[in-house]
Amino acid sequence: MTRTHIWWIRRDIRLHDNQALDSAIQGADHMVPLFIIEPDLMDSAAPKRLDFLLGALADLDKQLKTLDSRLIIRQGPAQTALPALAAELGGAAIFAHEDFSPYARQRDQEISEQADLTLTPGVVLQHPEANLKADGDPYIVYTPFKNKWYEQPLPTPADCIPTPDSVPPLPADLESIDLPASKPVKGFPSTSAAAQQQLQGFIAEKIHRYRSQRNQLDLEGTSRLSPYLRFGLISIREAVAQTSMAMLKTKSNEARGEMRTWLDELVWREFYTAILYHFPNVLNGPFREDYEHIPWRDAPDDLAAWQQGLTGYPVVDACMRQLSATGWMHNRGRMIVASFLTKDLLINWQAGEAWFMANLVDGDPAANNGGWQWTAGTGTDAAPYFRIFNPIIQSQKFDPDAAFIARWVPELADLPAQHRHQPWDMPETEAQKYNFKIGRDYPAPIVDHSFARERTLAAYKSARERTASDGE
Ligand SMILES: Cc1cc2nc3c(=O)[nH]c(=O)nc-3n(C[C@H](O)[C@H](O)[C@H](O)COP(=O)(O)OP(=O)(O)OC[C@H]3O[C@@H](n4cnc5c(N)ncnc54)[C@H](O)[C@@H]3O)c2cc1C
Repeated sequence: MTRTHIWWIRRDIRLHDNQALDSAIQGADHMVPLFIIEPDLMDSAAPKRLDFLLGALADLDKQLKTLDSRLIIRQGPAQTALPALAAELGGAAIFAHEDFSPYARQRDQEISEQADLTLTPGVVLQHPEANLKADGDPYIVYTPFKNKWYEQPLPTPADCIPTPDSVPPLPADLESIDLPASKPVKGFPSTSAAAQQQLQGFIAEKIHRYRSQRNQLDLEGTSRLSPYLRFGLISIREAVAQTSMAMLKTKSNEARGEMRTWLDELVWREFYTAILYHFPNVLNGPFREDYEHIPWRDAPDDLAAWQQGLTGYPVVDACMRQLSATGWMHNRGRMIVASFLTKDLLINWQAGEAWFMANLVDGDPAANNGGWQWTAGTGTDAAPYFRIFNPIIQSQKFDPDAAFIARWVPELADLPAQHRHQPWDMPETEAQKYNFKIGRDYPAPIVDHSFARERTLAAYKSARERTASDGE
């Protein structure tokens, strides 16, 4: 009897260091590399994220063809398409990477009730159940989670599974639909070769300055690997393994510290994945109950101004326009605009979370929700309610020459750098010299920061008081 295995590809679009693929290859006479197009996914994903995904699948198909195989595409929902295909193939066993969102867990549960589904590790380095407090409860604070995480030895490149030099052939006469057409995503070529290049280049160079430069909006000091990790064009194990090798090789303690800071960011990714796994309700509301009743403003015009990068705060507008144009935003920018939406405009963080998911090339429910709840002060490890970023100070600190602003807000590019942070404060004589008029050439600020700060402190206080009185 021939044995057919299905490698069900979800967010592991690579041949290298792929544990699900490795399991699917073992003992198989035939193997089907399968991707299922979910109708909901096509409708709801950010256009750039979808283009990135489809491009990555096309690239994987090319790589499979060099191994005399190819990608098989079927139409979802997976709950019906996959058991049907497994049955069509005579009870084929299915192998996939375990994923941790409530949606993925529910789907996989339903499939495992109808077919032989094996889930392998690989989306994160440490399974959410593997990093728990001594009493078996999940961590809800990052630092102890991280400390426990580092107790496990870091992988080395030798732990990564090499790219297979052959794969079991496809069964005969297997139907596949065409991949929908996609456009290249500027700045993020969606091939695994590009992912490798980005990782190697980062580890050879920028990681050595990561801690010092990662917050600067005007520098490309971060790895820009987020879409590649999101869709698994490189494995998290490989990213950690390459970094741990570089840490072993360097003689400089300082460089080791810079690299360790980058690993800490990967641990944030693991932390928020674990939070979503243990507390799936974070997708529906605040993690902290005392902030269930924040009197958010219903302010569609302010929300639209924020979305379009027309708030009158140059650093906020620059970041929001970077997001619209590229599908990506710097982490410091994400914190600034999230703080502005929730604490200056007092608009519910969930509106921001949704806008990010509708636009980010790296949009990931766990990291995005974690980032939004952190900034809004409603999440685990949250920034305290009284930490309200001053957008001008953030701008001056993290874009000191206002070069980032000049790039994304061209209507301010000709003003002297010191006035680009708060153009409304420019002396009249200077403004005339540059023929610049606030409200005509660039919007006046939609809210006064000092006023907004007081309003937010009062709103958060009222939420806590209401929760306290509800509990009496
Ligand atoms: C409001 C908000 C929303 C966010 N939404 C997302 C999202 O949808 N998808 C996403 O991948 N990241 C998200 N982040 C985290 C972070 O901003 C991005 O991962 C980072 O900017 C990506 O750029 P990079 O690859 O150059 O990061 P680097 O600084 O090079 O970090 C390396 C990798 O670590 C991970 N990482 C870094 N910081 C975080 C973090 N705070 N939380 C979780 N993982 C992290 C990412 O996989 C990233 O690629 C969000 C942060 C905030 C504040």
